[in-house]
Amino acid sequence: MTAALIDGKAIAASVRAETAIRAARLAAAGTVPGLAVVIVGDDPASRLYVRSKAQACEAAGLRSWVHAMPADTPLERLVAFVHELNGDPEVHGILVQLPLPGRLDARLVIEAIDPQKDVDGFHYQNVGALVVGDPAFYPCTPWGVMRMLEHEGVAIDGAHAVVVGRSTIVGKPMALMLLNAGATVTICHSHTRDLSAQTRQADILVAAAGRARIIGAGMVKAGATVIDVGINRLPDGKLVGDVDFEAVAPVAARITPVPGGVGPMTIAMLLANTIRSAERAAGFALAAGETRIA
Ligand code: NAD
Repeated sequence: MTAALIDGKAIAASVRAETAIRAARLAAAGTVPGLAVVIVGDDPASRLYVRSKAQACEAAGLRSWVHAMPADTPLERLVAFVHELNGDPEVHGILVQLPLPGRLDARLVIEAIDPQKDVDGFHYQNVGALVVGDPAFYPCTPWGVMRMLEHEGVAIDGAHAVVVGRSTIVGKPMALMLLNAGATVTICHSHTRDLSAQTRQADILVAAAGRARIIGAGMVKAGATVIDVGINRLPDGKLVGDVDFEAVAPVAARITPVPGGVGPMTIAMLLANTIRSAERAAGFALAAGETRIA
C-alpha cells in the first residue's frame, strides 16, 4: 500500500475561496471583516507568521491591522490595548502572536481578549466550552486537521484516534475535537511509556510533538490516516515533520506532507474564524450547509 497524499495546500485554498465569498457577502451588507494582530518584540519567526496572516487576510477580502509593540511594553499597556480592540466595532478577531517576551504572562493577555473576538480559541471561556463541545471559536490548527479529515471522508465516529502531544494549542484541543466527533481517543506525551504500542492502535494518528521524524513505519497500523502537525528544522535547514514520511507512506492509507500539509490549514481556519465572528456581529445566520465545525 502507498498512502494517498492529503494536500493541505489545496484544501486550504478551498477554505480560503469559501472565506472570500463570505467576506464579499458581508461587505455587500456593510461589514468588512477585520482581524487585529498584536505582536510584541522582534522575534523574526513571529514577524514572518504575522506578515503571512496579514497577506492571507488581504487576499480573501478581510481587513487586517498589525500592531507591533516594543519588547519592553509593560503588561498593563498591552492589556489596555487589547481592551481598546475589544471595544472597536471594526475589529472582529483579535490575535496576540505567541510567544510573548518571557516577562509577560501570556495567560493574562489572552484572558483580556473578548471571548467573542478570540479567533485563536485560547481564552479560558472558549477552552472550557470546547470541553462541552460548543465554543465560540475552535483553535485554528486542530480545526484545520478536522477539516482535512472531513474533506478526505475519513470516518471519525467510532475510530481509535491517537494524538501525540498534549499542548494547549494543539494536542489537547485536537483530542477534544476528535472525542466530540465520536472517536475513542488516546493522548500520548513525553512521559508515555511505550509510544509505539499506543500509536500502533491508531486508525487516525495525529503527531504534534515537535520532534523530527519520531514516528517511524513500525509505529503505524497498516491503513491508518496519518496527520503530521510537527514542523522541525533540521541542522541542514530542511523542514520535516514528526513523521518519517518516506518510511510511513508505504504503510498508511493517507498521509499529510510537511511542508504543505497542516501548515496552510492553520491560517485558512484563522480567516474562517474571523469571518464567523463578523457574521455573528452582523447578525447573519449560519451559512447554508454550514455545520458547527465547518
Ligand atoms: P509543545 O512543545 O508545546 O508540545 C509538544 C508536546 O509533545 C508536549 O505535550 C510533549 O509532552 C509531547 N512530546 C514531546 N516529545 C515527545 C516524545 N518524544 N514522545 C511523545 N510526546 C512527546 O509544541 P506544540 O506547540 O504543541 O507544537 C507541536 C509541533 O507542532 C511543533 O513542531 C510545532 O512547530 C508544530 N505546530 C504546527 C502548526 C501548524 O500550523 N502546522 C501549528 C502549531 C504547532
